[in-house]
Amino acid sequence: MSKTIAVLGATGSIGCNVLHCVDQFPEQFRVQALTTHTHVDKLLELVKRYKPEFAAVTGRSPADHDINLFQDLGVTVFTGQDALTRIAAKADYDLFVNSVVGAAGFLPTLAALDRGKEIALANKETLVIGGELVMKKAHEKGITILPIDSEHSAVFQSLMGEEHQAVEEIILTASGGPFRTWDRERFSQVTVEQALNHPNWSMGNKITIDSATMMNKGLEVIEAHWLFDVPVEKVRVVIHPQSIIHSMVAFRDGSVKGQMGVPDMRVPIQLALTWPERWSSDFPRLDFDTLRELTFTPPDFQKFQCLALAYDAANRRGTAPAVMNAANEAAVQLFLSNVIRFDQIPELIDRALQDFNHVSKPDEAELIRADQWAREFVLAKKS
Ligand code: NDP
Ligand code: MG
Repeated sequence: MSKTIAVLGATGSIGCNVLHCVDQFPEQFRVQALTTHTHVDKLLELVKRYKPEFAAVTGRSPADHDINLFQDLGVTVFTGQDALTRIAAKADYDLFVNSVVGAAGFLPTLAALDRGKEIALANKETLVIGGELVMKKAHEKGITILPIDSEHSAVFQSLMGEEHQAVEEIILTASGGPFRTWDRERFSQVTVEQALNHPNWSMGNKITIDSATMMNKGLEVIEAHWLFDVPVEKVRVVIHPQSIIHSMVAFRDGSVKGQMGVPDMRVPIQLALTWPERWSSDFPRLDFDTLRELTFTPPDFQKFQCLALAYDAANRRGTAPAVMNAANEAAVQLFLSNVIRFDQIPELIDRALQDFNHVSKPDEAELIRADQWAREFVLAKKS
């Protein structure tokens, strides 16, 4: 019997790789829902190919003739802000693959969990905003959230067969991004083109900028804290520029387990799709004849202020990570549009965190309000 899947953010970098993995096993997977924010033509192509039951366009209203094209293909199309939550609530799927970018992924994940569905999560922002609520719901429903993020997949794999109490520390590796060797003084001159030029990974624009500021690693610290139920101070970051060891777990007997491989997102994606099994692939293999060195250095928190801000927000808990995440999303958009400088990204996030009236035990509605407040704050303070 085939596994039915919903792919949110199907037109993005992760979404395309998810569909590539699906293509390797056409008998084993059936795609039931596909979504895009703005790429209606690309979504139509995908709909023709995968013949899902549902589709969604969240970022703009498709023209009537496009809606007709979807309908002619027998596909129900949802539009607007709540389209992803409606898909999560209505489509008939076994596995909910959340590969949208940003806070938009949060409520749909909760909706899929409400139905007790298995989740493969690329959208790390879900856990940054509402990790406590999400994990509580996952535990209530007996669901294991399957990480797609390569570091978390590596930790997930390292923890297989291990007891939780034996974990001493989680060690997330980071490439350090394109500015690892730059002096901080040069950060005010960073161009969008330079920041989008990641040394090891090809990804969507938002996460690529997050990798350049190292906010990505900060988001991943919070993601790991919730996903693996480990205190924030026991999630350590190590700079490993080769991106071969995808992350590690240190155990109480002094043993360290990690997961290695060529940097290729299809590996963690395929595992999330096939778990608890591990299927074959023809993805590139590590070549130990040419691999020369694996190096490790501690991160520079003075230079990469976003990483320090993320640890602070994680320790403050409550609404702080949601405010930080939304301020970051807004600041990254402003940077990508050439409205602010690269070094203003952490400044604006810091100001948002300082000005927000912190809520220590927020519910879902308070998290959404905190998110909206932070976006508006950053847009108003940009100049
Ligand atoms: P992309 O920007 O490439 O794709 C994002 C997808 O989400 C697209 O389909 C996009 O539609 C859609 N989308 C964008 N904004 C919204 C919105 N507001 N509401 C609903 N849908 C939206 O991102 P990535 O694939 O790179 O990243 C997706 C997620 O996975 C992120 O959370 C990222 O941090 C995480 N991740 C990504 C990795 C990677 O290698 N790319 C690695 C590890 C984690 P449209 O095509 O119209 O823009
Ligand atoms: Mg990652």
